[in-house]
Amino acid sequence: MTFQAELTVIPREQHPISRRDISPNALRVLYRLRDGGYSAHLVGGAVRDLLVGQIPKDFDVATDATPEQVKQLFRNCRLIGRRFRLAHVVFGREIIEVATFRANSDDGSGDREMDNGRLVRDNVYGSIEEDAVRRDFTANALYYAIEDFSVRDYVGGYADVLARRLKLIGDPEQRYREDPVRMLRAVRLAAKLQFEIEAATAEPIARLAPLLAEAAPARLFEEMLKLFLSGHAVASFEGLERYGLLPVLLPETAAALAANRSGALRRMLVEGLRGTDVRVAGDEPVSPAFLFALLMWPAYCRSLMGLQAQGVALEDAQRRAADRVTLHLLDTVALPRRFSLPMQEIWLLQSRFSTRQRKRVMRLLAHPRFRAGYDFLALRLFASDEHADDVAFWKQAQSQSGDELSASLGVAPPAEASTDDDAPSKRSRRRRRRSSRSASRE
Ligand code: ATP
Ligand code: MG
Repeated sequence: MTFQAELTVIPREQHPISRRDISPNALRVLYRLRDGGYSAHLVGGAVRDLLVGQIPKDFDVATDATPEQVKQLFRNCRLIGRRFRLAHVVFGREIIEVATFRANSDDGSGDREMDNGRLVRDNVYGSIEEDAVRRDFTANALYYAIEDFSVRDYVGGYADVLARRLKLIGDPEQRYREDPVRMLRAVRLAAKLQFEIEAATAEPIARLAPLLAEAAPARLFEEMLKLFLSGHAVASFEGLERYGLLPVLLPETAAALAANRSGALRRMLVEGLRGTDVRVAGDEPVSPAFLFALLMWPAYCRSLMGLQAQGVALEDAQRRAADRVTLHLLDTVALPRRFSLPMQEIWLLQSRFSTRQRKRVMRLLAHPRFRAGYDFLALRLFASDEHADDVAFWKQAQSQSGDELSASLGVAPPAEASTDDDAPSKRSRRRRRRSSRSASRE
């Protein structure tokens, strides 16, 4: 790489990072390495996040010790990765990742080799300068040194963080060609940090976006989760649109949104993402299945309408539309089945909410995906008020006891209803009643 590294040291009294904000386990690792005679720094996202006052998700350490030397210092250490060997020091649920300085440009993820027929000089260890310039953005290449608590900057990252600027190290086009996922990282980190993507870093993105299609699907899946389930989904989505990445990352969704002139589907999508952000902010769980049901809903609807226009009956068309979209997702982002199955269920449940038949109502309430399906139905109000009555009905149904609900549906409560033609077995009736009770507790 042609990029010239030049060290600037920002002494402790000139930067805001305090040891109190650093994970005690990360500090343990840093001190133990130093006492073992090695150089050790906190690096990457953690330093960047601390400088802008955010709480880092994880703490990464960079050192001149080899993975084997790291392992000798820590009993709780695992070596992982074949092509890109890393040491994981494990403290219960917290893992401190310790990487040896390297010279090669690599994606840093530890599981990817370069394409374009170029050989990966993977486990080529290097100097800290080389380690800095192989990283992606200047803001991600800052080192916090444990010996004097200074921040070491080899690529101008400190000024860029202060200016809230995301800037690729080296020639942007070359860096995106080496690893197209960096385009997604640019959008994601800009959204997360509220940084501006610097002009020269932004310029090639729309042009090089098609390269993303060649990225490993599993890696794209991981990146999608980070884009949309880290609390900045709306900003990430808008960034993907703005930089022309959406049509490559989610081609069917992008096409369906473009075809939806009223903007209703986009409105619903953005509101759904806003809800996800609110949940993340409130430390509530978020599910990839719901996320993908939301992201792919425009594509599903479009496919469904197409099939129906060809004369395919509704139920059949729903199945086939769901399968088509799922198959495509498997191809592009390797969506695992444990997520695609519930995603499909959320879609297929949608047409069942119009029922008021007691038995069907009870069965739907007891469905394991009822809550997700209902939340999704409620979200659809942002696209159209067609289902407003259904939303109101199911909202109330959840808050009622089984008996109240039966009464409101104009039939006897379930216990006395076993004379129905196709009365369900005792077992399923018990289950149903229990579920409607638990639903009423929510
Ligand atoms: P966050 O953890 O908030 O998602 P991060 O910057 O820490 O952001 P990680 O994926 O944890 O992202 O990567 C850790 C560090 O590894 C980065 O800060 C960066 O220095 C380097 N890195 C990660 N991915 C790449 C890449 N594709 N190319 C070059 N360097 C990378
Ligand atoms: Mg990180």
